[in-house]
Amino acid sequence: MIVELISVGTEILMGNILNSNTQYLAQKCALLGMDQFYQVTVGDNYGRMTDTIKQALGRSDIVILTGGLGPTEDDLTKEVCAEAMGMQLREDPHTRKQLEEFFVNNIYTEIPENNWKMAMVPEGAIVLDNPNGMAPGLILEKNGKTAILLPGPPGELYPLFEGQVFPYLQKLQKSVLVSSMVKVCGYGESQVEDKLLDLIDGQTNPTIATYAKTAEVHIRVTARAADEAEGEALTAPILKEIKARFGNAVYTADEKVSLEMAVARLLKEKHLTMAAAESCTGGMVAARMVNVSGVSDVFMQGMVTYSNEAKMRLLGVRQETLVAYGAVSRETAAEMAAGGAAAAGTDVCVSVTGIAGPEGGTPEKPVGLVYMACFVKGKTEVRKYQFKGNRAKIREQSMMKALDLVRL
Ligand code: ATP
Ligand code: MG
Repeated sequence: MIVELISVGTEILMGNILNSNTQYLAQKCALLGMDQFYQVTVGDNYGRMTDTIKQALGRSDIVILTGGLGPTEDDLTKEVCAEAMGMQLREDPHTRKQLEEFFVNNIYTEIPENNWKMAMVPEGAIVLDNPNGMAPGLILEKNGKTAILLPGPPGELYPLFEGQVFPYLQKLQKSVLVSSMVKVCGYGESQVEDKLLDLIDGQTNPTIATYAKTAEVHIRVTARAADEAEGEALTAPILKEIKARFGNAVYTADEKVSLEMAVARLLKEKHLTMAAAESCTGGMVAARMVNVSGVSDVFMQGMVTYSNEAKMRLLGVRQETLVAYGAVSRETAAEMAAGGAAAAGTDVCVSVTGIAGPEGGTPEKPVGLVYMACFVKGKTEVRKYQFKGNRAKIREQSMMKALDLVRL
């Protein structure tokens, strides 16, 4: 089934409002496994709306329109669709009654005459009650084509769609989409793509797509199938192959699992506890860990040691180290991690120290230079990174890489 989304409204065209309805509907249709080739926005103009709707009905099986269902002069969606599909408008007694009730409940003293136009319904249309507004949604079916007309305000659209349109579309759409997400740390997007090129090129079902995130890459594998079981059978060998190619750079194949959740799980599995000693990330690693509900079983403490004095006092970093190598150095990162584990009494401690900028860089130690270390039961691994970007970006990348450094 091919579905096409049409947003109606000059205010969308002019950029006065963000077209969030299309994003919402597109995600829902993708979830249903429908093909989507076009999304169109058209202003409140009879002629251009007619052209748009006819073109959409010509090339798509289902057209979903939002907006322009209200009582005002510029609300034309229903009139245009009815004419384009050769359907007559007539008053729907049920809708008329609903409108009367709405006016009473909302204490209208005077009902503007043009409001009654909302009770006019194309003959044979399925009327969708709109409990949050006046204009009902409509489904028009003719010659194997379907137009679904929905109100523009998101507060009316979402419940109407979830409750009545989604189940309707589910019945029309006989296949499902089954999709999995493999999350990889330690590779850039082009490296990931390079390693998967043969798979990506050769595949139509399932399809493989990569998405670059901060310091990680997500690989989505999506199969179209008659049912869940068939979909899973199609994706399983591809998922296995991806995992084999990236080894332990894969931290999860579960869409819902974040990097911090994977770290927390790993700590739980190994019966280890962790702390964080942070300079330039200023507690971001700890904050990420605390995203995970119930993490106090494994994550004990975060220490924000921004000054040299704090690094010495809280983490036991030696003054000689700071003098000889500086706060942003391999040696300081290592002492922060080991000292942090000792101070917190944990098996593991991850540390971060770097120059987030924009000031403070030197030719030897430029902005973006970050050292991090992970202490695990007496052994310390140190990494050096040279990040690009502004202060926020450098700190975020540092935090992600620090979490990724926790390999047990
Ligand atoms: P009403 O009965 O309120 O007139 P309607 O169905 O005629 O509803 P519009 O008049 O087109 O819808 O839009 C009403 C309001 O709904 C807009 O001012 C806007 O706030 C919101 N809206 C409309 N279309 C969209 C969209 N595509 N994305 C997000 N919001 C939208
Ligand atoms: Mg309107």
